[in-house]
Amino acid sequence: MSSVFHRSAKTYPVAVRGQGVYLWDASGKRYLDGASGALVANIGHGHPGIADALGRQARALPFVHGSQFTSEIYERYAARLAGLLPQDGYRFWAVSGGSEAVESAIKLARQYHTERGESGRYRIVTRKPSYHGASLGALAASGMGARRALYRPLLNEDAFPKIPRPDPRVDGEQDARQLETLLLQLGPESVAAFIAEPVVGASDAALSPAAGYYQEVQRICARHGVLFIADEVMCGLGRAGSMFALSQWHVTPDLLVLGKGLAAGYAPLAGVLAAPHVHAAVMEGSGAFKHGFTYAGHPISLAAGDAVLEVIEQQNLVERSRCAGDALLAGLRDLAQDFSQILEVRGRGLMLGLVLGDPDTREAYDDPGLAERLGRAAFAHGLITYPGSGALDGRRGDHLLLGPPLNATDRELDELLSLLRVACTETLTGRTHPA
Ligand code: PMP
Repeated sequence: MSSVFHRSAKTYPVAVRGQGVYLWDASGKRYLDGASGALVANIGHGHPGIADALGRQARALPFVHGSQFTSEIYERYAARLAGLLPQDGYRFWAVSGGSEAVESAIKLARQYHTERGESGRYRIVTRKPSYHGASLGALAASGMGARRALYRPLLNEDAFPKIPRPDPRVDGEQDARQLETLLLQLGPESVAAFIAEPVVGASDAALSPAAGYYQEVQRICARHGVLFIADEVMCGLGRAGSMFALSQWHVTPDLLVLGKGLAAGYAPLAGVLAAPHVHAAVMEGSGAFKHGFTYAGHPISLAAGDAVLEVIEQQNLVERSRCAGDALLAGLRDLAQDFSQILEVRGRGLMLGLVLGDPDTREAYDDPGLAERLGRAAFAHGLITYPGSGALDGRRGDHLLLGPPLNATDRELDELLSLLRVACTETLTGRTHPA
């Protein structure tokens, strides 16, 4: 009997080894990691050099507490990361996971306004569907019915009002004006920030808005004194085909939240890059960010982040994500021709999604678990995918996200497509591929 408190009562295979895009379980079965876990393992598993970097840091300085010390690795890595932005002066606040980073960004936005004498600004406008994390603040910010249902009495709805998700088929600027309409209804003087995932992952199938959307969001936020928080926990660090996804809309947000791909699974690392005006308001005001976690700025995690960034840069993985992503998107669109229940294939870079549903109504099925069944079939055949819900208005099990490591080879991506075809043939009814 296992002593682990597993996520569910199902039986989990015991993973024993990872190398490149592959994982092996204790029975010797091999899996192609088509989702990098949950779009985390961006440089693949068992990358040579990362373990050495972790070992060196563990021997030199494994831990200091942020109320007493900074560290060489924190200073160096923060400068390196901030240096990737087109604007100078951003400061990096490092934590252990995406939810912690989102909480930090929300608190930073609230403190920023309070320091400037606008303590009436407390609301964080978000979108629906969306996913920003599992802790209660980040969950309140998330527009995802299924993950919120149990905890609804604990979530402050008034503080987290929501606008609909973007619709890539409509004009981007017009779409973004839903934000301004809501701000004017609420009274912008009550709003601290707007948070959005530039390319939506966990709650939708790699959805992004039309050109002009985020530029207009930025203008609206600036006009009403609202901070723009970009949650790039999933889509950042090359995953969506550029180092930061929002740069594809030529926008740099006030607060940029990163996670997952930052240390690519080699250690728990996430954080917030804060614009100079946000940092200055806090430091010139009360002189301290009133928030902290014991493991914030952990040296071993930062060493992992630094070593991962080295690999991303050395191997041109951002460029690779864009090119390989275009090729995989074409392959998936080809596959979709043979399965009418794949309603749409979309995404940017190596962050790609299949929207599944009824080909006649173009809605989700009443039987909700289609993507989950497809994901299970793929897993049985040795392909890891990331099934989810939200693409068709929050109905369960209606999309499948794919996000292999950014350094997956062409041959490995072909293998991904063949395994997915087998799983689709088994799971999706209707027109199927002749075996
Ligand atoms: N924001 C986004 C956009 C995410 O995709 C996730 C995780 N799926 C989170 C926040 C939360 O990150 P974590 O699970 O590391 O707390």
